[in-house]
Amino acid sequence: MKGIGAAGMRALHAAGPVALLMLVLSPLAVLPSLAGFSPAGGLAAQEGQREARETAEAAELARRDSLRRIFDPAGAFEPLDLPEPGEFRDAAGAPGEAYWQQRVDYHIRVTLDDDRIEGTERITYTNNSPDSLTSIWVQLDQNLFRETSYGALRAEELGGEVRHGGFFKDGGFVISGVRADLGGEMTVPEYRTEDTMMEILLGEPLPPGGSQVEVEIDFAFEIPETGGDRMGKLDIRGGIIYQLAQWYPRVFTYDDVNGWNQSPFLGQGEWYLEYGDFDVELTVPRDFIVVATGELLNPEEVLTLMQRERLAEARLSEEAVHIIRPDEAGEDHTRPPGEAPLTWRFRAENVRDFAWATSDRFVWDAAGWEDVLIMSAYPQESIGGPAGSGWERSTEYLRHSVRYYSEKWLRYPYPVAINVAGLALGMEYPMIVFCSWRSRGAFLFAVTDHEIGHTWFPMIVGSDERRYAWMDEGFNTFINYYSGIEFAGGEPILGQLMSPAQIATDTRLPSSPVYTPADSIPEADIGVLAYNKPAAVLVLLREEILGPDVFDEGFREYIRRWAYKHPQPADFIRTMEDVSGQDLDWFFRGWIYDDAILDQAIASVTRVGDTTRVVFENRGGIPMPLEARILFQDGEEQRYEVPVDAWQVDGTYVLEVPGGPVRNVQIDPDGVMPDVNRGNNVWGRGILGRRPPR
Ligand SMILES: [Zn+2]
Repeated sequence: MKGIGAAGMRALHAAGPVALLMLVLSPLAVLPSLAGFSPAGGLAAQEGQREARETAEAAELARRDSLRRIFDPAGAFEPLDLPEPGEFRDAAGAPGEAYWQQRVDYHIRVTLDDDRIEGTERITYTNNSPDSLTSIWVQLDQNLFRETSYGALRAEELGGEVRHGGFFKDGGFVISGVRADLGGEMTVPEYRTEDTMMEILLGEPLPPGGSQVEVEIDFAFEIPETGGDRMGKLDIRGGIIYQLAQWYPRVFTYDDVNGWNQSPFLGQGEWYLEYGDFDVELTVPRDFIVVATGELLNPEEVLTLMQRERLAEARLSEEAVHIIRPDEAGEDHTRPPGEAPLTWRFRAENVRDFAWATSDRFVWDAAGWEDVLIMSAYPQESIGGPAGSGWERSTEYLRHSVRYYSEKWLRYPYPVAINVAGLALGMEYPMIVFCSWRSRGAFLFAVTDHEIGHTWFPMIVGSDERRYAWMDEGFNTFINYYSGIEFAGGEPILGQLMSPAQIATDTRLPSSPVYTPADSIPEADIGVLAYNKPAAVLVLLREEILGPDVFDEGFREYIRRWAYKHPQPADFIRTMEDVSGQDLDWFFRGWIYDDAILDQAIASVTRVGDTTRVVFENRGGIPMPLEARILFQDGEEQRYEVPVDAWQVDGTYVLEVPGGPVRNVQIDPDGVMPDVNRGNNVWGRGILGRRPPR
């Protein structure tokens, strides 16, 4: 806080996690704007304003703290009110005996022509639920970019400047045909659309138990300039890069908890998607290269012999091999001879989405890890120079992440992993991620590692991102923390974000719990509530509560149980409790369901005969284990651990210390807890955190 001020921290959070990474990597670059420096105002006036703002913010923090300080032992240790377990989800947190989920397969054919996508999809919907369905709900995400969308209206209400905007006059899907196989014949069903949602009425209900219906939709849309910082187009030297996502009508998830999970796409909250197979045919101008979710089925039609040979070489190489060298990008000889557009065919199995990118100026390189082809596609201007490295290291970063997460959590299950440079700051799709063409150096590592980390959450473990952003961004940021440490050889790349002091600050700033639906989190708090706080509390749970071995066993079991399925928060909590054998309701209640803060304190230290009586108090809303270090006058040192259950009855714990006079007592001497007030953690003489001279 010092030197930056709460407003500064909030300003950083406003831009999301990527901006937070920037703070870590280049604090000097962002500090001037944080201080609110403006050449027009006098320095003294600015200083006065800054002080006034800081005073007001300090008062606000103090008020919030006092509200959250009341420690209620009974409430803190009360069992969480989780949904009743049953045949679909069992009490141990695993899918139940009768667990089911729907399946959605897609066959999509589109053409890219002059900033426009046009084509047809055939959806095969399999109803594995025990319910008869009278309609199919489809998401029309491009409709967000209409100037009159719910998202646009919401952005206007919020002041117009939102990261996930990009509304324009011709935005949105044009749906020119809808057909459904009703009673063995493709006919036009009744359907209605509202904002980003479409309901297709089936006439005859679709029976339970694996029955199928086929739906065809003809669609087109103008590619947005900036599609909510998740897709769009970027002009580059001599050409263009399209990043295409949310580009075809996608079916909403139907599950045992909410039935249809239809809700409008407002821009901030992400998705909750069904698994299935994709067959996709993408027709683009001949001079364009395509990279996409899935395996390329017709390389002999769309690649030159030299490119196919280079790809074969790359598969066996640990180092990146150029498929298109920087000096070849955009050259005629990089395309098969001829004039007509080319159709690129891809197949992807067991994925929840499909994205692609295409450019007439891609530099393209690749390497292999086991049988995974790791690739990067970027413009010449993304290559680094004397000032630092750039996208020429992307494949190395991606390869590290794919290998590391595979070895640590669950093997990467797909045939390709691709990083594409473009307009989007950082966005994840199965087998393909979009990162900013401007990213460089450590920041490019961090954003690449983050986006491909999403392979595990939510691409493999298919949670509901829109309701539970923390199970997507938070879990991913948690695994990124350890990936960064390994890549940097022991130095945490996200270190400052995960430091106890930063977590303490983070727990004080947001006004709502982590357990807040993504669209209800103020944009300024997204970075903390969806990313850093849930990640940091998982680090706490791993390092301070369960220990790495037990935590990792539980986390791996959660991934194993829910891979390619749809877990709810209760399934995660129950799995961690099941594997660890510990009741962790108090932990998840305080850190995830509530917005409690931690404040452990030394209330008094008194000498009674031969013993010293130390009174600890829990002055925050959440109980945590307490570790204390006692230094005696003779220089001896002892450590005491107070288990969390010591707070079950009240907020006071008395420690009787036998032996000689005590010189110094300190709570959390290693500084691992996110205690909001460390001033009351120490009693006595001796320099804080340092051993006094003997
Ligand atoms: Zn993310």
